[in-house]
Amino acid sequence: RLISAAPTSPNEEALERALRPKLLQEYVGQAKAREQLEIFIGAAKKRAEALDHVLLFGPPGLGKTTLSHIIAAELGVNLRQTSGPVLEKPKDLAAILTNLEANDVLFIDEIHRLSPVVEEILYPALEDYQIDIMIGEGPAARSIKLDLQPFTLVGATTRAGMLTNPLRDRFGIVARLEFYTPEELVRIVTRSAGLMKAPIDAEGAMEIARRSRGTPRIANRLLRRVRDYAEVKGDGRIIKAIADKALAMLDVDPQGFDLMDRKLLEAVVHRFDGGPVGLDNVAAAIGEEPGTIEDVIEPYLIQQGFLQRTPRGRIATLAAYRHLGVAPPNKAGL
Ligand code: ADP
Repeated sequence: RLISAAPTSPNEEALERALRPKLLQEYVGQAKAREQLEIFIGAAKKRAEALDHVLLFGPPGLGKTTLSHIIAAELGVNLRQTSGPVLEKPKDLAAILTNLEANDVLFIDEIHRLSPVVEEILYPALEDYQIDIMIGEGPAARSIKLDLQPFTLVGATTRAGMLTNPLRDRFGIVARLEFYTPEELVRIVTRSAGLMKAPIDAEGAMEIARRSRGTPRIANRLLRRVRDYAEVKGDGRIIKAIADKALAMLDVDPQGFDLMDRKLLEAVVHRFDGGPVGLDNVAAAIGEEPGTIEDVIEPYLIQQGFLQRTPRGRIATLAAYRHLGVAPPNKAGL
C-alpha cells in the first residue's frame, strides 16, 4: 500500500521522528487523553512517584508512540522502547526491566502480541515492581525474586479488545485515541511544513488535512509527497491546486479514501450486494488480512459513516453507494 498508515522504510521513520512533537503542549488534538495525562503526570511529579501504567489504544498513526515519548519527557525520565513481538522470551523482558531506573517509562508497542510466558512475568512487575526469574537449569534450577525500581508501563495497541483481561486490568490510565478533525490536521500539516521549510498556504494545508484519513502519520506522509510534486511541477509552494493534483496522482480520492478503502467498499457493494458480509469473506474477496481490515482500513470508513459493523457482518451505507456512484438497492435499512 502506497499510503499505508504503518511506518515503511527506516528513512521514513527518521523523517517521522523529526516531526514528532516533544511536549504535551505541542501535541495537537486528543483533548481528553491530554487532559487526563496532564493531571496524572503533574500529580506523579509532585509526589516524585512513578506514574500509573498507561494503556493507549487506537488505529495506527494516531500518535501512540509520540505520546509515550511525551509522557517520559514530561516526567523527566528515561524511555525504553520495545514491542510485543520482539520480546520472545521472559529473559528478554527481564533484562529490560532490571535495567530501568526509578520512575522510568517502558513503552511496549503492539502489547497485544506479547507471548503468554512473557506476559506472565509482567504481572508481578506491574503490581509489585518484582519479577521471578529462574536461575540455573535442570534439577538445580530455582526461582528467585528480584526487586525492580518503580516504573511506568505505557502499552500501545490497535484494539483494547485484543488484550487479555488480567493485563488490561493492570492499567490505571486507559486512553483511547480518536481520529483527528481536518482542523487539527491543518495545524499538524502547517507545523510540519514549517519544520521542513516548505511554503504552504491555508487552503493547501486544508486539502492535505481533509484527505489524510484523520491520521497524522498519513498527513505528514502526504505532505512530503505533495511537496515533491510542488517542487517539480510548480514553483515549490503548496497550494490547493497543486495538492489536489498530487493527491489524485497518489490515488487519494476527494473524500480522502485510498485504493484499499475503495476496494473494500466496492467489494461489499458489488460482490456482496451491500452486505451484511462477514469479515473473513470480505478479506478473501480483496486479498487482505482480516486483522488489517479491522485495525487499519475499516475504522475510518466506519467513523465516516460509509460502513457499518453489525452482528451479522459489514454493511455498506447509502453514503458508500453515493461515493461509488452506484444506485442503492431497495433494501430495508438503507
Ligand atoms: P502510532 O504510534 O499511533 O502509530 P505515532 O506516534 O508514530 O503513531 O505518530 C505518527 C506520526 O504522526 C508522528 O511521527 C508524529 O509526527 C505525528 N503525530 C501523531 N500524533 C500527533 C499529534 N497529536 N500532534 C502532532 N503530530 C502528531
